[in-house]
Amino acid sequence: MRLRNKPWAKDKLESYPQYVVANPADHKGKWHEVFGNNHPLHIEIGTGKGRFLLGMAKANPDINYIGIELYESVIVSALDRLIEEELPNFKLMNVNAVDLRDFFEKGDVDRVYLNFSDPWPKKRHEKRRLTYQSFLKIYEDILVDKGEIHFKTDNQGLFESSLMSYSEYGLILKYISLDLHNSDFEGNIMTEYEEKFSSRGSRIYRSEAQFR
Ligand code: SAM
Repeated sequence: MRLRNKPWAKDKLESYPQYVVANPADHKGKWHEVFGNNHPLHIEIGTGKGRFLLGMAKANPDINYIGIELYESVIVSALDRLIEEELPNFKLMNVNAVDLRDFFEKGDVDRVYLNFSDPWPKKRHEKRRLTYQSFLKIYEDILVDKGEIHFKTDNQGLFESSLMSYSEYGLILKYISLDLHNSDFEGNIMTEYEEKFSSRGSRIYRSEAQFR
């Protein structure tokens, strides 16, 4: 993700508390109060500019979505989209995924989406991959029992290492596609990166994995 310096982004995020959750730790264990209903909660980690979750939130009004993104300068673009669309079931959080246990307790989250996560191809950086064992432990600690991780990427190396990581952790693989756009999978909503890479001819890999 190319970062542009946007010194105004922080102020803008703070001025839309109806869309950007300001103190997420305050809602641990009671996210239904934030959305005003008991619908399932799906989160996307590394949501970028929010295209995927915006599409998902429009298509599935009975599911609540939170887009989690580390960089203010990136998530502010997702906020712009949300301001235009005014979706009640889509919120944003400007936090680091390593801290997710501070904001969610076991069972708060029904599904985790990872889309086009940074590949960190060097072996010495593997712990930074969002599908590394330590991240899987974090997801297990916040997900419902038998919760799922749905993952898409164009990066073959990241896909391979993620499947290995899932297997070592004991996750059950429920779906694998090595070429999503030429598969019979229905209802795919493209992410920003997916559109960019697939238009250049890259294959898209997709998996669904479930905790035991
Ligand atoms: N998911 C989007 C898409 O498919 O278009 C964006 C993909 S971009 C390559 C990966 C995003 O993940 C970046 O915006 C990055 O800032 C975010 N990210 C990486 N590590 C993160 C972390 N630990 N916590 C939250 N966001 C993270």
